[in-house]
Amino acid sequence: MRMYDIIKKKRDGEELSTEEINFFIENYVRDIIPDYQASALLMAIYLKKMNERETLDLTKAIINSGETVDLSDIKGIKVDKHSTGGVGDKTTLALGPMVAACGVPFVKMSGRGLGHTGGTLDKLESIKGFRVELTRDELIDNANKINIAICSQSSNITPGDKKLYGLRDVTATVDDISLIASSVMSKKLAIKSDAILLDVKIGKGAFMHDLKDGIELAKEMVKIGTGYGRKTIAVLTNMDEPLGYGVGNALEVKEAIETLKGRGPRDFTELCLILGSKLLILSQKVKNEDEGRTRIKEVINNGKAYEKFLELVKYQGGDVNFVENTDLLPKSTYIFELKSNKEGHVRSINAEEVGKCDIILGAGRQVKNSPLDLSAGIVFSVKVDDFVKRGDTLCYIHSNSIEKENEVAEKLIKIIEIGEKNPVEKKLLYGEVTKDEVKLY
Ligand code: URA
Repeated sequence: MRMYDIIKKKRDGEELSTEEINFFIENYVRDIIPDYQASALLMAIYLKKMNERETLDLTKAIINSGETVDLSDIKGIKVDKHSTGGVGDKTTLALGPMVAACGVPFVKMSGRGLGHTGGTLDKLESIKGFRVELTRDELIDNANKINIAICSQSSNITPGDKKLYGLRDVTATVDDISLIASSVMSKKLAIKSDAILLDVKIGKGAFMHDLKDGIELAKEMVKIGTGYGRKTIAVLTNMDEPLGYGVGNALEVKEAIETLKGRGPRDFTELCLILGSKLLILSQKVKNEDEGRTRIKEVINNGKAYEKFLELVKYQGGDVNFVENTDLLPKSTYIFELKSNKEGHVRSINAEEVGKCDIILGAGRQVKNSPLDLSAGIVFSVKVDDFVKRGDTLCYIHSNSIEKENEVAEKLIKIIEIGEKNPVEKKLLYGEVTKDEVKLY
C-alpha cells in the first residue's frame, strides 16, 4: 500500500477501505508517513468528506494507535465531558470541580488550543507547576482520592489524535464532521468512563456554524459512543459570542475561579448548571435537572466546588497560591482599555474573530508547537444585547507587545458591532441529542 494512492483516492472522492485508514494512522504515528502527506490526505478528507463507516474506522484506528485506560479501579459511575471547542470556553475548569464536589468521579483527557479555539491544558499550565501529564496510576489514584483528574493525551493514549490534532490546527482542516467526531470520540473511548456528555458548540466561534451541521456532528458522535456501549448524550449550545467575559489562558483560569466562588458571568455559570445537572443525572446522583441544578448551586455556595479546584491543583503539582491569589497568574505588561465610539446595543461579538485576535496576541498558536503567551488575551466588559454609550469600556486587551495590542484594538472596534437592538433574544441552549432523539428547545 502506498500513501500516495490513498491521498489520490480520497482526492478523487472515493471511499477509503478499513485497511487504508489503518495503514495511514499506523504509519503516521510511527513517523513513516511525513506531515506533508498526512496534510494532503487531511485536506482531501476535508474537501471530499468521509462516510459513517470511514469515520468509525478512523475513530477505531486512532483508539488502536495507543493504549486504552481501564477505569474500573475507580469507584462509582465515572463521567466524562467534552466540548467541540469554543472561544472563552473554560467550562472544564469549573464544571469538573463542581461535579467532583458532588461526589461524581470526573476523569478527563483534555486538549490544547485548536484553530481559533483555546484548550484546557494550555489554560491549566498558567498555574505554576500544574502537571498535565499523569501516569495511569496517578490518574486512578487521584480520581479515587479526590474524584477528579484532568490530563493530557500522554504519548501512549491516542497518539494518532495527538499528531493529527496538531497538524489540523495549522492546515485549516479542523472544521470537518468526520475529523472532529473521530478526534473527540477516540479520546473519549480510549479512557473508559461510564458516561460521556458532549457539548457541541454551534455558531460563529464554533467549528460548526449552523444548527444543522451541529446536529449531524452530535448524532455521529452519539452513535459512535453508544456503539461502544457508553451512555452518550450531546447538548447543542451557542458559541456566537465568547463564553463569559475572559478570553486567554490565565484570564480564563481567573474567571473559572470566580465562577467556582459564585461570582462568575451569567452565561458561563448557566452553562455549568446545565452541563453539571446532566452529568449528575448520568452518574445517577440525581433524578432530574432541577435536583441537579440545586446540587451544583449548593457546592458553589458552600465553597466545596472551589475547594475541589484547590485539591485538583495540589494533586497535580500546581502551586495553590496561584489559585488563592490570582494576581500571581501570568500578567501582561500592557493593558489597553478599548472604548466605544458609538451609542447603541451590542449586536454581535464574532467569537471566531475574537479567537483570531487572541492568536495575534500570542494566546493561541500560529504554527505547530509555538510557545504561548499565557498572560495575553481580552477581557470584555460587555455582552451581546448590552447597551453602551459613547466612551464606555468595551474590553481590556492584555498584551506584552504594543504593536500587537494596537493591531487587535483596530480589529476589535469593528468586531464588537454596535447598533439597533437585536430583534431576537439570544439563546444559550439549542437542544439535546440522545441515541433515540433530537430534541430542540
Ligand atoms: N475537540 C477535539 O478534541 N477535537 C476536534 O477535532 C475538535 C474539538
